Amino acid sequence: MNEFTDFKSGFISIIGRPNVGKSSLLNLLVGDRIAAVSPKPNTTRNRILGIKTQENAQFVFIDTPGIRKARGKLEKAMVQAANAALHEADVLLVMIEVDKPFGPGDRFIIENLSKPSILLINKIDTVKKSKILEIINTSQRYSDKLLEVIPISVIEADGIDELIQTIIKYLPQGTRYFPDDMITDQSERFLVSEIIREKIFILLEKEIPYRTAVVIEEFNEAAGKRLLEIFATVYVERRSHKGIIIGSKGKMLKEIGTMARKDIEKAFGIKVFLEIWVKVKERWSDRENLVKDFGYGI
Ligand code: GDP
Repeated sequence: MNEFTDFKSGFISIIGRPNVGKSSLLNLLVGDRIAAVSPKPNTTRNRILGIKTQENAQFVFIDTPGIRKARGKLEKAMVQAANAALHEADVLLVMIEVDKPFGPGDRFIIENLSKPSILLINKIDTVKKSKILEIINTSQRYSDKLLEVIPISVIEADGIDELIQTIIKYLPQGTRYFPDDMITDQSERFLVSEIIREKIFILLEKEIPYRTAVVIEEFNEAAGKRLLEIFATVYVERRSHKGIIIGSKGKMLKEIGTMARKDIEKAFGIKVFLEIWVKVKERWSDRENLVKDFGYGI
């Protein structure tokens, strides 16, 4: 095989409304935990790169936080990140859900497509075949914007081989951008902060997790001890939120810490000491500079 003429590589962006399954797809494709997956919408704030390399191609996936109406400053940063991802991509995967297809948000995204795009109809495990065919038919309405329509189920890994073959078809020829064994260009600190944030999403209800930022203050591999020492701060917007995250007698914070520590140990293959502090920064998500400091802007 000639590295330059037979190999294909490029950037692929996954876009779609919150909760359609974008992070789950990324995790399935790159075989590692990179994007935070949670049953609640909008857990993914940053652009996250996941990289998949196989014999004939390298796929660099950009996961986007979803396109939606900008409200506070935080949402604006998310929309900017999504638009930047659109700009960089060679191929776009537009994802919709089979049981809630072509809502106003989906239509907005499809009608504003500026790149060759592949429509993914996800969650086909939840409906009958006739329903899937009906949605494929409806998608013909947008045939000028869509190169292909592929029904998939991320949960059952159904349609994924076809998806990979189809992406290759539309990727440009080119050499690899990243070493084969690299799965993400995000820093280890970022991975750790995503793991902690994911636990807050899992353990706490309502709006608190959306108003939470995690900053890794220290990340040290203790010399000679094979131990990773991590000090993290969870920023919340209100004193009452701080109380809820800490919980009665510190129980909630302890649970967040234990769950996160176990995952971090798995991810890095090393024993971890994790200490988490909770601090109040009023209305941080509305204050642009703070949003930037926390790494959510671009
Ligand atoms: P995102 O907001 O678009 O990144 O969506 P997520 O990847 O966080 O997924 C949202 C929810 O949909 C999670 O609870 C997933 O487990 C679920 N989900 C994702 N793909 C499928 C699928 O193929 N079938 C079913 N039944 N659920 C799915």
